[in-house]
Amino acid sequence: MIDLDSGVALYLSRRRGLSLNGREITHRVPLPCHDPATGEQIGETVLATHDDVDCAAEAAHRAFHDKRWRGKTPAERQRILLRVAELIDSHAPLLAGLETLNGGKLYGAALHGEVPHCAETFRYYAGWVTKLGGGTFEPSVPGARHHGFVREDPIGVAALITPWNGALVAASWKLAPALAAGCSCILKPAELTPLSSLYLARLLAEAGVPDGVVHVLPGEGRDIGAALVRHPLVSKVSFTGSTAVGEQLVRDSATNLTRLSLELGGKSPVIIFEDADLERAIPAAADAIFSNAGQVCVAGSRVYAQRGIYDRVVAGLADHARAHRLGPGLDPASTMGPLISDPHRGRVAAMVEAARTAGGDVVTGGSAVGDEGYFYAPTVIAGARQDSAIVQEEVFGPVVTVAAFDDENSALGFANDSRYGLAASIWTRDAARALRLAEDLEAGIIWINDHGIPELAMPIGGVKKSGIGREHGRQGLLAFTETRSVMLRL
Ligand code: ADP
Repeated sequence: MIDLDSGVALYLSRRRGLSLNGREITHRVPLPCHDPATGEQIGETVLATHDDVDCAAEAAHRAFHDKRWRGKTPAERQRILLRVAELIDSHAPLLAGLETLNGGKLYGAALHGEVPHCAETFRYYAGWVTKLGGGTFEPSVPGARHHGFVREDPIGVAALITPWNGALVAASWKLAPALAAGCSCILKPAELTPLSSLYLARLLAEAGVPDGVVHVLPGEGRDIGAALVRHPLVSKVSFTGSTAVGEQLVRDSATNLTRLSLELGGKSPVIIFEDADLERAIPAAADAIFSNAGQVCVAGSRVYAQRGIYDRVVAGLADHARAHRLGPGLDPASTMGPLISDPHRGRVAAMVEAARTAGGDVVTGGSAVGDEGYFYAPTVIAGARQDSAIVQEEVFGPVVTVAAFDDENSALGFANDSRYGLAASIWTRDAARALRLAEDLEAGIIWINDHGIPELAMPIGGVKKSGIGREHGRQGLLAFTETRSVMLRL
């Protein structure tokens, strides 16, 4: 087993409080935190109350209006966000330890992948602080001359609601652009994985983000999350989670017309043509569904293989599935960690059972693994009907369906036959065909001969029921701004 940074045990040895107005508040109802690899409690934080939501919203609103953050020069804010990135890097073993213990990550992937990516996210948006501009124009008002300019101003208090499947990454993807835009933030991490977000709040303070600008409130989604969404002082909600909750947020945001960015579910197709480089496509398709045990919003959960290579693709995916070694993220030999919780594993198992009953052929996997923790075997299902639940519904586990197609049109038909539209990948050596398909695929992000590559400069988000709005890139920053036009009569 990997020896964790000594700071992890120290951090977990005490109850961690919610982060409100620069203070850590611990005298609340405890919220125990568990290791999904063992089921054991590893630490605890507390549940925020409705009073805490009011307090955080008022403090964040005050901070926004007295301009203690957005009033700093862009260069100063940039320096502070760059310092956040440095602190994330220098605390990488500790943060990776928390992500592994609380989020079920493989330690190596957290240390060398996710945590550095969080630092890069802060660097990327630090760069934007000094570059976000509006525009000027010459209005055509008859008989009078005006000077017109357009500003991109911070939107106000932003509620950031994150899921459990990549707690630190999701928090960084939202905090970095929100702070770069000049907003005040209230982060509500998922109840299962609050610890790394609470630690991140400390690093933000250490880097120089003033008190009152960022608050972190662990709590139940439908209680504290919903209270944030309905709060009149919250101007913007950036949410990543399930489509069902996203729909609820649309309803809850209606009263105040709160601005929403929603990154929701996915059922992303992986389309493999006969001319693809199968030596790359098959392992990549396996990675697309099995990395992080399939608990990834852009997971490639539906593979469509052209008929001539269908058997090879099914066999290849099954080989990759069987080669996985399930175990705790702290064991360097593990290649796949656990699912996040017992109820979640129960949902995954029930969906696979339903697929089996509906006539799907479970080629490999299809069962829980081990007596400890919430492991589920990587699973390949062939022959499931296109209209069956296993092909249409998000599983959020290491479960992939494989189906055959004959030509480009039928591949497109299968791929687009989904209420979701987050991501897709196309595997072919024929660039023209790939571009034709990319034009017609109903997905917010499309990879050709790759899958799931995170790129901060490229906007990511969904069409159809996969969401509203985009994260990353300039669009991810503009999601935290309100455009305002100013006209001056000369
Ligand atoms: P997941 O399946 O990833 O847990 P959820 O959509 O249930 O997805 O949760 C994502 C985030 O949304 C979590 O932080 C959760 O606490 C929060 N949440 C859940 N229900 C609501 C709600 N009604 N209003 C606001 N936030 C919610």
